[in-house]
Amino acid sequence: MSDKYDVIVVGGGPAGYVGAIRAAQLGMSVACVDDWRDGKGKPALGGTCLNAGCIPSKVLLESSELYHRTREEFAGHGIMIPEVKLDLDAMQDRKNRIVRQLTTGINALFRANGVTAYNGRGKLLAGRQVEVTPQDGDPHLLHAEHVILAAGSLPVELPIAPFDGEYIVDSEGALEFDRPPQRLGVIGGGVIGLELGSVWNRLGSEVTILEAMDRFLFMADSQVAREAQRQFKRQGLDTRLGAKVESARRVDDHVEVRFSDREGDHHITVDKLVVAVGRRPATEGLIDESAGIVLTGRGHVQVDENCRTSADGVWAIGDLVRGPMLAHKGSEEGMMVAEMIAGRSAEVNYGAIPSVIYTSPEIAWVGQTEEELQQSGQAYKVGAFNMAANGRAKAMAQAAGLAKFLSDPDTDAILGVHIVGPMAGELIQEAVLAMEFEASTEDLQRTVHGHPTLCEALHEAALSVDKRAIHAINR
Ligand code: NAD
Repeated sequence: MSDKYDVIVVGGGPAGYVGAIRAAQLGMSVACVDDWRDGKGKPALGGTCLNAGCIPSKVLLESSELYHRTREEFAGHGIMIPEVKLDLDAMQDRKNRIVRQLTTGINALFRANGVTAYNGRGKLLAGRQVEVTPQDGDPHLLHAEHVILAAGSLPVELPIAPFDGEYIVDSEGALEFDRPPQRLGVIGGGVIGLELGSVWNRLGSEVTILEAMDRFLFMADSQVAREAQRQFKRQGLDTRLGAKVESARRVDDHVEVRFSDREGDHHITVDKLVVAVGRRPATEGLIDESAGIVLTGRGHVQVDENCRTSADGVWAIGDLVRGPMLAHKGSEEGMMVAEMIAGRSAEVNYGAIPSVIYTSPEIAWVGQTEEELQQSGQAYKVGAFNMAANGRAKAMAQAAGLAKFLSDPDTDAILGVHIVGPMAGELIQEAVLAMEFEASTEDLQRTVHGHPTLCEALHEAALSVDKRAIHAINR
């Protein structure tokens, strides 16, 4: 194996492995250094997303949703199932199998594209050298013309609730419970808190979410967030807003949590506590001082709009750098950087990155929220359409939610699209494409949408911007 490459990528998650494959497709010699090992101690590519994040959580969201619907909703369709039993071991086995299939799939893609994988910790030294330290072996040096740092992020740990791996766990631990905790506490009502809270709620846990902010899902459009909050409350998710957690302490086989909110001091006892208060860039031990890389005050690797760092020939992408911590944002940056190294022009449109929360109903958006438009003083016109009037959503018995359009009153440009409803994560892609192609609201209004489909709700929301919705009263 040579130790000289055109490109070395440090990190094999969705940012790094995608960048590595694209660079190889463009004719470069590429190495990818990654130190993840699976539960059996075997090297596993794919990073947090495939091994312990997006994929396993979506598998459990799907399984738990089916379990919940079978128990609670099938009778409404006239399907009578006398006894529905949960086999959590089988559910977890299925999850692990899917993760294994996808992570080994990356190995196959690397082989097919000629990317060399190194299992070990990578550290950037001066002069675009990368020191690779395998778990059981001596460090060795690799050299490259270009290095792409893509080491991802780690869960933020709260000093008042340190992880113990058994009772107080991070998002990864919360995917591995061998039985539904009777009482589950979650600190942080963000994306992970809501997704994992939903999984265990559906499987029978009593879930309490403690969220520091006064507003539910403060990053989402508030109309959409309010509707989502209403639905989650109906499902039994107990979310306490404005909660200041003072302490979390394991006592025997449970955890005592003390917190205060506007109503005073509270104390709850839970069997497991998940801490999901955000993630931080994984820069520790990644960069030698001599490499000349500058970090921002928030701990990100400082980069320009094309992901160039302060060191010549060194790039950084994904969760290590500014912007939302989303797998698809990292993947696009990986492709952009590979193209730029190959001398092509490339860019990421940061204004059209979709966000999706895979709860039920799903929540998805692209562009600006109504509050952001108000704060920036940007004029806007707004249209919304309730899923309750969408035939397909009714047929699916999932007619909760709405689609909302925000448009520029002068240019008719689409400024933001927000959806809470069934398959919102799929529906939003129409809006992303429209924004990417700079379609006007009228373009969407004039686009034929199949009937009966969920995306008709988006069509009607676009029509409603100009008070033209057909299946709603325009106000
Ligand atoms: P998040 O930023 O989505 O939410 C963290 C929440 O914790 C916020 O609402 C915040 O107000 C709250 N919080 C912070 N400190 C707190 C405290 N001391 N007490 C109570 N609440 C507190 O972060 P996350 O849910 O941990 O997710 C981490 C990252 O992973 C995010 O960037 C997220 O976008 C990403 N992620 C994305 C998906 C997806 O795309 N579906 C899924 C999982 C994770």
